[in-house]
This record gives sequence, structure tokens and C-alpha cells, in this order.
Amino acid sequence: MQIYINGTFYSKNDAKISVFDHGLLYGDGVFEGIRVYSGKVFRLKEHLDRLYESARYIMLNVPLDHKKMTEAVIETVKKNKLADAYIRLIVTRGTGGLGLDPFKCEAAQVIIIVDKIQLYPEAMYEHGLEIISSSILRTPESSFSPRVKSLNYLNNIMAKIEAVHAGVPESLMFNADGFVVECTGDNIFAVSNNEIFTPPTSTGILEGITRDCVIDIARNLGYTVSEKLLTRHDLYTADELFLTGTAAEVIPVVLLDKRPIGNGKPGAITLGLVKAFKELTKREGLPAL
Ligand code: PMP
Repeated sequence: MQIYINGTFYSKNDAKISVFDHGLLYGDGVFEGIRVYSGKVFRLKEHLDRLYESARYIMLNVPLDHKKMTEAVIETVKKNKLADAYIRLIVTRGTGGLGLDPFKCEAAQVIIIVDKIQLYPEAMYEHGLEIISSSILRTPESSFSPRVKSLNYLNNIMAKIEAVHAGVPESLMFNADGFVVECTGDNIFAVSNNEIFTPPTSTGILEGITRDCVIDIARNLGYTVSEKLLTRHDLYTADELFLTGTAAEVIPVVLLDKRPIGNGKPGAITLGLVKAFKELTKREGLPAL
């Protein structure tokens, strides 16, 4: 494995950063998770746009421009020779002192890792997964924009711990108004009466690139897709539920808080979208190999 750190490649054992990096000391930085399918990087432009927007929100100067970052990502994929992979692109605040002030840090650091990923067992894509409602509310916009993909995931990690303790792979987070937001690393969709619904950005979601992709796919297939405020009631009574995310892709949810969704089996619309998404990932992408 060859890991990119600020323009130089290191083996896994030699890829190290300073313990004074504020990415480590304070979770000060941003990142992206990106997929490579059949040697092509999927939706790289969209991921980089979100990375630069996240960086701008936290006033972090990314040392590479869009074009140079694209080249760095492609070069790292080439070095690792993986046709199907997951790219973790990280920009940390850089090395500083033992104090919060981000402006006292030296240059931001860019790290790119390319590796394999399998978030959930293959069988769950066919049979669906079980989730629970988390008691942890998603960070509100008034505290920190949930649209920023930052290195501080403790809000989501607290909800993930609840899932693990309950013996399920994911948990669903709500906001302070009681509306459905998203799972710890995925966006959520509900299907009711052949219409597809997903919470709007204003609820506090990370605007998923897979979410956008699936909305387009579903509309092209002729479904009505609406961004709508959803409550627990809407999900308990939905015909189908599914999650979307770069790592998770599109995956059916069949149990929520031990309650079967629809008939307790992945629904036809969800399975159609799982298939259509797979096909799209084969067709699209920026060639890297
Ligand atoms: N919500 C959260 C909190 C996430 O971390 C992610 C990404 N893992 C998503 C949603 C899905 O976003 P994307 O489809 O861009 O990966």
C-alpha cells in the first residue's frame, strides 16, 4: 500500500504524521470517502467540491487546487493498482501547539489512502439490515454545520455505540424538533405508496453524494422523489426503507426498532435502485487505471 502525504508516497508502516497535528489534537480538519469502481473514480468532482466547501466553512486553506488534488487522487489510485477501492482523502489543519488556535498551525496536510472496503456483509444487501433509533440528536446547524464532513465524528460515533450495544449495524439520528435526519454514516430514504421521500438538508443531514445520485436515478426511472420532513411515524409505517452512502452504497433496511418495515423484506423499489446504482457505477467515473 502506498499512502500519499503532502506529495510523497510512503508504505503503510512509514506513513506517519506529527502528534501535534490539530487533526489529531482537536479533530480539526475535513475529509472525503470516495469510491473507485472498475478503475474509475466515481463522482470525484462532487466529492472535491464538498471537500473544498467543508474546508471553507472551517477556514482551512487546502494547499492544492481542484486540478492538483484531482491529479494527486488519480496518482494515488494508480500507485495502489486497485480497480475497486475506497479512497480516504484527508486534509488536516497541520502541526501546531497545545492550544486551539488554528491560525497558529503550520501548513495544512493532505493525506490520501486507497484501500479495500466492505462496510456491511454482502448478505445484508440482499436481505436488508436492522437499525435502531438513536437517543443521540444530530449536531444542530446552530452548533456546527452538519453539512461539513469534518474529522470530528463523535456525534455520530455516540450513536454508532448505541447501535453496537443493541447488536445492530446502524442507528438512526433525529434532530431536536423530532424529525428524522440520517444514520451515522448514511442518508435515509423511505418509500410510501410508490413515492420516495428523504429528509431535506435543513434537518441537519450531510448532503450525501450517493443521495443525490439515487435521487437522479429514481427520477429517471419515473418515480416521484421529494425532500420532506419525516417523523418516526413516517418510517414505522413506510413500505420500504433504504440507506445511501459512499461506503454503504444503497442498502435496504428491513427492521427499525425491531418493527418490520413493510413486509419485513427488501422492497421492489429499493432492490431496483440497488441494481440501477450498481449499473451506474460501472458506466461512470474518471479513469484512473
Ligand atoms: N451522512 C453522514 C453522516 C456521512 O458520514 C455520510 C458519508 N459516509 C453520508 C451521510 C453519505 O454521504 P455520501 O453519499 O457522500 O458518502
